[in-house]
Formats: sequence, structure tokens, C-alpha cells
Amino acid sequence: MEFKESILVEREDVTEQLLPGQLATLHCKHCHTVLGDSLSVCGELPCLESVICLKVTKDVVVSDEMDLGRNGKLANCIFRHLACGKCGRALGKSLMATPPHLATLRSLFLLRKTQVTCYVLDSCAVVKASAVSFRFEPLTEDMDEAKQKFKAHLKAMKKWQANGINSLDK
Ligand SMILES: [Zn+2]
Repeated sequence: MEFKESILVEREDVTEQLLPGQLATLHCKHCHTVLGDSLSVCGELPCLESVICLKVTKDVVVSDEMDLGRNGKLANCIFRHLACGKCGRALGKSLMATPPHLATLRSLFLLRKTQVTCYVLDSCAVVKASAVSFRFEPLTEDMDEAKQKFKAHLKAMKKWQANGINSLDK
């Protein structure tokens, strides 16, 4: 969706890549209730077509009952169902207990991308979450760069110390 001659229209042709620092809000596809924001998104789970959120708004209702996955990707998982607090539509799941290979997803919120739209603040566009990539680049490269900077800084400090320049006692 975007404003076109003061009318909000949904954009069908857009594929967005959320960049680090780029902000978006997540909404129920059916009633547009705010479900969360990009600051709480940890990534996505392609096998379940879900956005992984650390937090969601109070308008996401977590079921009291727990369910057991008997087959498929959630086999042997115990989870609660998530629903929109306004329109009642199913939104996804929150895993309570999992086999070890899904352990990192425990207690997080998995919102089905097909049930969510995103309002991307930079482009002022509402796009389907299924058209947005929430795959974040690993930090390895940045960490390597930071490590190199620290090493260079440490080397410079050792050199200053050896030359007696870095005497803070005086
Ligand atoms: Zn809704």
C-alpha cells in the first residue's frame, strides 16, 4: 500500500529487503492491527514461512492451551497458538518446548508471513510480509573488522607505552 493521489493502495509488485536500521511496523493483514515492529524481529524461518519476533504487542493473543506437533516441521514441539486480538484470525505460533535443533526458537513469536503486512517507514509503503526479506546479514564481517581495529589500537598503545608516552601517573 502507498499513498497515490491521497488514496492508500497496496503494492503487489514490491520486494523489500529490510536493511539494518530500517524501520517497519508489522500489522494483521485482515484488520491492520499493529502486531510488532522491526526492532523486535530476529529473522525469519523459511520452512514455516514465519517472521521470528522477540516481542509482539498486547494485541497478539497467546492461547492458554498448548498443542503438540505430531508431524511436519514442528514434530515433537509443544507450542501455543497466536491470534489477532482484534479480528481473531490465526497469526502463528510460539514454541514452548522443542527438540534441540529448534531450541533457539523457544519462547519467541513466529508470525506467519502470509497473515502479516509491513508498513516500511522509509518508503511509506505497506507491503505483504511475504514480499519482505527479514534475513539479516551475519555480523561476522563487522566483528572481524572491529577485531582488526582493536588489534591495531592495542598495537599502537603498546608502542606508545614502550616509548614512555603513555604514562598516566604524572
Ligand atoms: Zn486482525
